[in-house]
Amino acid sequence: MGLERPSPVVLFRPSMDPSRILLNDFPRQWQDTGGAVLDATRRVGESGWYILGREVAAFETALGISVNAPHVIGCASGLDAIEIGLRILGLRSGDRVLTTPLSAFATSLAIVRAGGVPVFVDVDEAGLVDLDKVEAACAADPSLRFFVPVHLYGHCLDLQRLQALRERFNLRIVEDGAQAIGARSRGLAMGSVGQVATTSFYPTKNLGALGDGGALWTTDSALDKHARSLRDYGQSTKYVHDQIGLNSRLDELHAAILRDAFLPKLAQWTARRVAIAGRYRNGIANRDVQVVPLPLGSESVWHLFPVMVPAAARDQFKAHLAAAGVASAVHYPLLISAQKALESLPCQTLGILARAEAFAEREVSLPIHPYLDDGEVERVIAAVNSWIP
Ligand SMILES: *Cc1c(COP(=O)(O)O)cnc(C)c1O
Repeated sequence: MGLERPSPVVLFRPSMDPSRILLNDFPRQWQDTGGAVLDATRRVGESGWYILGREVAAFETALGISVNAPHVIGCASGLDAIEIGLRILGLRSGDRVLTTPLSAFATSLAIVRAGGVPVFVDVDEAGLVDLDKVEAACAADPSLRFFVPVHLYGHCLDLQRLQALRERFNLRIVEDGAQAIGARSRGLAMGSVGQVATTSFYPTKNLGALGDGGALWTTDSALDKHARSLRDYGQSTKYVHDQIGLNSRLDELHAAILRDAFLPKLAQWTARRVAIAGRYRNGIANRDVQVVPLPLGSESVWHLFPVMVPAAARDQFKAHLAAAGVASAVHYPLLISAQKALESLPCQTLGILARAEAFAEREVSLPIHPYLDDGEVERVIAAVNSWIP
C-alpha cells in the first residue's frame, strides 16, 4: 500500500504527532476514501485510455450537475482554467482586467499569461474585492471590460451586485471559484453570474484531487467548444491547429478519482466545514482576535477560516497556536501587486489598497477541514481564547 511511504511533498507530510491539528489532514482523508480511489485507479489502468476519454466526460457531466452548469471543461489547473476563460471571452493582449490583490498569485498570473494587464482594486471588510470600488472604477473608465473576482476563503461575493455590474458595464467576468466550489449568494450558485467560472482541484481545495487539476464552466456552447480546443493545443480536429493553445488536459485518472471518490463526499465535507465555522464563530472570544465578517448574503463553503490579529503580534499568535499543537497559515502575506514577478510588467492599482494591506499584515487562517473532530475544534477555540498578546 502507498500509505506507508513518506510523501515527497513536504507541505503535506503527515505530522509525526497524532495530536497535532493540521490545516489539511490527508492521512485521514485517505483512510476514508482510499478504497474508492484504488478502485477508480484500477478501472482507468485497465481501460488502457488515459487522456481525454470517457472518465473526463463523465466527471464533467457530474460536476455540471453539482455546480448547475450545462458545459464543464476539465483542464490541468485552476490557473489554466482562468487563462482559458479570459481567452475565450476575447481578451486581447494589453486589455486591462479588474481583479483583487488579495488572492493566490495564480489569479493574476492567469491574467498576465492571457496577455492582460491586472488592475488591482482594494478589498472589502470580508477580504473580497470591493464591489463599490469596482463600480466606481467602471463608471469612471468605460474602457474597463474584463473582471476576475475571487470568491476568497470560500465566501461568495454578492452575486446580485455582480450581476448588476455585469449588465450596467457590459463586463466580461471570469469568476475565480478555486476556493469556493458549492458556495452560494442568497441562493444563487457561485459561478452563475460570470460568463465563465473556474475552480481548482489542487489537493488542499474543498474538492481536491491527488494532484493538479482544474475546470471551467459556462452556459454558452460556443465558449465551451473554444475552451475544449484551447486545452488541447488549440486543435479543432486531430492535427488541425486553428489557434495557439495549451496542453491543459485533466487526466482520466484524476477525473475518475474525483468523480468516484471525492465528488460524492463534497456535500458532507462542506456541511462539516460549515458546522466547524459555526462553532468557531460562537466559541472564539478574545478581544485581540477578530473573526473576519462574511460578505452580505454569502452561503460560504469555508475553504479557510480567517481571523485578524494585531500585525505586530501575528508571529507570536501563530507560535502560541503551534505550541498548543494547532497549525495555522497566512492568506496571504504579500499582496499580488507587491510581487517581484510583476515588477517589470504593466499593472495598475486603483486608489490605495489599505484593506488588502491590513489582511496581508494581520490575517491568520485557523484549521478548518472536514476531518477535524469536535474535540479538536474545541482545542482550537481554547488555544485562540487563551492567547494574550
Ligand atoms: C488555488 C487557487 C488558484 C490556482 O489553482 P491551481 O489549481 O493551483 O492552479 C487560483 N485562484 C485561487 C483563489 C486559488 O486559491
